Amino acid sequence: MRVDLHTHSSASDGTQPPEVLVAAARDAGLDVVALTDHDTTAGWAAARAAALALGTTLVLGTEMSTRYDHRSVHLLCYLQDPGDAALVAELETIRTARLGRAREMVDKIAADLPITWDDVQAQVEDGASVGRPHIADALVAAGVVPDRSAAFADLLHGRGPYYVPHYAPSTDHAIALVLAAGGVPVLAHPGAADRGRVLADAAFDELAAAGLVGIEVHHRDHDAAQVRRLGAIAERLGLLVTGSSDYHGEGKPNLLGENLTDPAVLAQIAERGTTEVVRP
Ligand code: AMP
Ligand code: ZN
Ligand code: FE
Ligand code: FE
Repeated sequence: MRVDLHTHSSASDGTQPPEVLVAAARDAGLDVVALTDHDTTAGWAAARAAALALGTTLVLGTEMSTRYDHRSVHLLCYLQDPGDAALVAELETIRTARLGRAREMVDKIAADLPITWDDVQAQVEDGASVGRPHIADALVAAGVVPDRSAAFADLLHGRGPYYVPHYAPSTDHAIALVLAAGGVPVLAHPGAADRGRVLADAAFDELAAAGLVGIEVHHRDHDAAQVRRLGAIAERLGLLVTGSSDYHGEGKPNLLGENLTDPAVLAQIAERGTTEVVRP
């Protein structure tokens, strides 16, 4: 059974609508795919309808923006109650912060390069979580860079000249919100070297104590040493191990199914989550 637990649609910064993403997952030979858009559940309904129509098993979730020690940390959240008031309010706050931050970045970029806020908005689906990839798309449309990766290599890089951070809750608070919403919190790519400092060992102890359930160990941004290290940490702390593609459609080289999760781990996530896995 091929299980990929981390993908993005155009409800955030993926390039495909949720129903196209689910079809792509089926065509890629996946048996199970999770939709985990940044800070939103806006794609859930379309993804669920597509999964039922196409016969693909679907895990609904969200990739939440959080902060640990001033560092941006992504927290995957699976099978939460999408109507949980506290979590809904926090996600809305983060999305609003993303919007203000994108405008600030575009203001800075516009001083040097030919893009406007309207150009960026033209790249964002109605109601989607706005991110740097949408600014990248506007830069591509303006002919400034050939693709998203080129934009991230320099102009949009976290240590680049135009970067602006945005509000995000602390990782332990986010874990508490996710658990209270009946969701299953799993740290996304915590060993990705390009996102600033790799999360230190002590952080995993603290987050496990806060209720973290799993670690995304198998991810293209992890080298072999990080995979070994994170696997050992998960074992030591009794955390689940997941693997996934972090697919964004055509926006990123990541391919559906390039990393996979053990079906037994999926069963444990399904067992803990409040929302049922969509099984056609
Ligand atoms: P933001 O959430 O606005 O800070 O933008 C970061 C997001 O951009 C990440 O979560 C990825 O989804 C995406 N991203 C990062 N690097 C790249 C890249 N090289 N090419 C395309 N998308 C990227
Ligand atoms: Zn993304
Ligand atoms: Fe991420
Ligand atoms: Fe992601």
